Amino acid sequence: MDCIFCKIVQGEIPSKKVYESELVVAFEDINKVAPVHVLVIPKAHYDSLMEIPVSETELIVELIHAIQEVARVTGVAETGFRVLTNKGRSAGQSVFHQHFHVIGGRDLDIKLG
Ligand code: AMP
Ligand code: ZN
Repeated sequence: MDCIFCKIVQGEIPSKKVYESELVVAFEDINKVAPVHVLVIPKAHYDSLMEIPVSETELIVELIHAIQEVARVTGVAETGFRVLTNKGRSAGQSVFHQHFHVIGGRDLDIKLG
């Protein structure tokens, strides 16, 4: 499959890795919108949040744990951060391999939309 994030998982495209576990990897966004901007992804390919089966409890737990670890190692656990995911056209999803953005390191606008 021609997926840029699968290629990052395979090591075919370089990334600045922040955290890794058996099922999940986190790396710096190439186009940061804040001093901390990390993408947390499942190593397995899912087009979006909607394709992750809720039966995949181990993966879902690891994703939440990875977000917590990313917040800790990047130093935003205390100062605060935002987690977001874009799904589909209306939200402007541009990479169709599910990812959570972890954004912080500056005061963030309240506006989300
Ligand atoms: P989204 O628009 O929510 O699908 O987010 C996709 C994100 O992937 C954007 O913030 C891009 O900057 C980021 N991105 C695209 N290619 C790469 C890459 N090779 N390494 C790291 N981040 C990337
Ligand atoms: Zn993929």
